[in-house]
Amino acid sequence: MRYRLFSREVETFIMNFKSGIVSIIGRPNVGKSTLLNAVLGEKIVITSDKPQTTRNRALGVKHTERGQIVFFDTPGIHDQRGLLNEYMVKVALKTFKEVDLILYMVEAGRGIGKGDRFVIEKMERVSTPVILCINKVDLVKRDSVLPLITAYTGLFPFKEVIPISALNNEGVEILISLLLDALPEGPRYFPDDTVTDMPERFIAAEIIREKVFRALQQEVPYSVAVLVDSFKEAPERKLLSIAASIYVERESQKGIIIGRGGKMLKGIGSRARRDMERLFGTRVYLELFVTVKKNWTKDGRRLKEFGYDLPQ
Ligand code: GDP
Ligand code: MG
Repeated sequence: MRYRLFSREVETFIMNFKSGIVSIIGRPNVGKSTLLNAVLGEKIVITSDKPQTTRNRALGVKHTERGQIVFFDTPGIHDQRGLLNEYMVKVALKTFKEVDLILYMVEAGRGIGKGDRFVIEKMERVSTPVILCINKVDLVKRDSVLPLITAYTGLFPFKEVIPISALNNEGVEILISLLLDALPEGPRYFPDDTVTDMPERFIAAEIIREKVFRALQQEVPYSVAVLVDSFKEAPERKLLSIAASIYVERESQKGIIIGRGGKMLKGIGSRARRDMERLFGTRVYLELFVTVKKNWTKDGRRLKEFGYDLPQ
């Protein structure tokens, strides 16, 4: 609050206030979204044990005394085909040039693979500094991390290397201070109380998609898109009424999502409602519908309709 008394230039000059944008990138499933939630202490992006959970670029703002870090959470970078997959990779790669710092995340339990070489090749083409973050150290023996660090630093001139466990919140504070060290002095880009620029209805749709991802096996989640049809607040009754549609590609998938006697859909709905109530701080009334849009993941027009549209 006290910084608000100063003009932008004076604030920067007096406080040495740091700020900038950091893009979290890496292969699918390494824990990028888990890290963003851990940094913010609030769950604004969805996570699951399935690759390709994150489809769009998400923005989260970390406020500290020393500075303000704007994070981009991105879809995993991989080389799988398909319109939706290609869209996701483009979203991630596009951030490279827009940001002050790249946070490249890898997993402690896995060696360097083709995917890493693919990403490193892309990073070599930009001058943006890169910090290497080795996640999931809770899953491995301590002495297995050092050889991995040596292998990675032999491949690319990382500015810093830091091992963490995003899930257990280990090393996250140190990471934040490393990022602040590396960022330039600058203004506050967002007011103190802003955590994200994503509209509440989008986050609501994402929460539902997370519950679908977590409830279903194999390929079905990848065929799912969620749109919120209505989002009505009744503050006097402390109630938020949300109606949303879950889109699938085939009739058989609709059956799976609804489940026997509607049991699956009911579970998805009640888990989503609980998360929404926590995040929005109000009671939520949630209605879900399941609709078939044949082969929407292969249809450019439909992708746009569902918000998977890259501005040229
Ligand atoms: P993303 O695709 O890179 O965004 O990965 P997510 O954040 O969705 O995480 C993928 C899976 O890894 C989820 O099941 C997470 O719970 C799990 N995960 C993330 N960070 C850690 C960690 O530090 N340790 C362990 N054991 N699991 C983690
Ligand atoms: Mg993610």
